[in-house]
Amino acid sequence: MEIKAIRGFSDILPPATRRWRMLEERAREVLEGFGFSEIRVPILEKAELFSRSIGTETDIVEKEMYTFEDRGGDLITMRPEATASIVRAYIEHKMYAADPMAKLYSIGPMFRHERPQKGRYRQFHQINVEVFGISHPMIDAEVMAIVMHYVSLVGAAGCRLQVNSLGCPRCRLPYTKNLRAFLSDHLPHLCEDCRRRMERNPLRAFDCKVQGCQDIMSEAPLVSDYLCTECADHFAAVRNYLEALGIAYEPNPRMVRGLDYYTKTAFEVVAGGLGAQNAVAAGGRYDHLVAALGGPDIPGIGFAIGIERLLLVLPDESLPPGPSLFIAALGEGPQREAFSLSYKLNQVGARTMIDYEGRSLKAQMRRADKFGAHYVLIIGEDEQRSGKAILRDMKEKKQEEIPLPSIFEEIMRRMGEGSP
Ligand code: ATP
Ligand code: MG
Repeated sequence: MEIKAIRGFSDILPPATRRWRMLEERAREVLEGFGFSEIRVPILEKAELFSRSIGTETDIVEKEMYTFEDRGGDLITMRPEATASIVRAYIEHKMYAADPMAKLYSIGPMFRHERPQKGRYRQFHQINVEVFGISHPMIDAEVMAIVMHYVSLVGAAGCRLQVNSLGCPRCRLPYTKNLRAFLSDHLPHLCEDCRRRMERNPLRAFDCKVQGCQDIMSEAPLVSDYLCTECADHFAAVRNYLEALGIAYEPNPRMVRGLDYYTKTAFEVVAGGLGAQNAVAAGGRYDHLVAALGGPDIPGIGFAIGIERLLLVLPDESLPPGPSLFIAALGEGPQREAFSLSYKLNQVGARTMIDYEGRSLKAQMRRADKFGAHYVLIIGEDEQRSGKAILRDMKEKKQEEIPLPSIFEEIMRRMGEGSP
């Protein structure tokens, strides 16, 4: 019986892998430029890390986590997001000791047991960005500027930034009370989940995908009308800094995000044409998360970009590989020559391919074509004897004779890969 990949888990095949790498490389360049350093955290964590940070009443923790008992009897979760792990690492390694400020990023797979559909998978990939130790609203604007700069740099079309403030525990207390009262007035029309969450986490009702609940929530009181002076001032300053950087944004007072740890600023980058899966990136401030996970009282802010979602809004052009060379060799002597020459070229970073099976020139040319070779070097026994080879430029449809002794230098010069 044929074994297939698990539902919601995808292979990323060539040539798509080239676009993935482009997205990852651009992200690294942009983030390193903004003063970030890479952190790599494990894929498995103790289950408790996520229930304590994301919140027990959230979709992720209630329905989506891959949690299992390992052979030692520990309850383990395949990370559904990266912030909790990065916060854990920040605390565990006392990365705040000399200076609480840390700008960290990480790229990798996340796991959520959701219903697979376009833009929603069970293994998906995120670019995660976190800043610790800065409560100044300037950093809120900066992280939003970074994500908007990045999506436009890689050519994502139609991305819009939506911003909200979720307040702090102080302003959320009277707000939640009123929201709960509102929900209880509409109790008979709420879905099962919203009814259950009303007591412990009424804010979640804004995130409910059930149409009936969404209709009700369009009339619900908004957290933005309840912000305390500090939160209102912070939000005004954030918007001000966004304007200073020339970043266009839309206030969205109903956006609450699917994780419990957010305070003050929350934001999403949405794109048209993605249906319900329209969030390309999302994030916000989490001023109490470090303390909640046992660390000192240090604020944080971050976001995650969904790479699969980003790919859906990128123009569908294939990225041509760099210049490449196929060496077509005919006969045993030329084949040996091709084998060594190719290795020498690979060692200095040139992209090459040879024939291993001693096939006909026609078959070799077909493979050169599949490889997308810019140049084909043809070495036959006659050529070898006369000390020459033929270099064919497949793009320009031209060919020339090149003396074998200087072949390496000549090829390197044409391929523009630097000199040996
Ligand atoms: P959604 O409302 O679409 O479920 P979310 O609020 O659960 O998103 P976050 O936890 O904030 O998403 O994750 C940040 C980003 O990761 C999302 O904006 C999206 O681009 C991506 N993402 C989240 N879940 C998935 C998934 N199952 N498959 C693919 N990408 C995802
Ligand atoms: Mg989700």
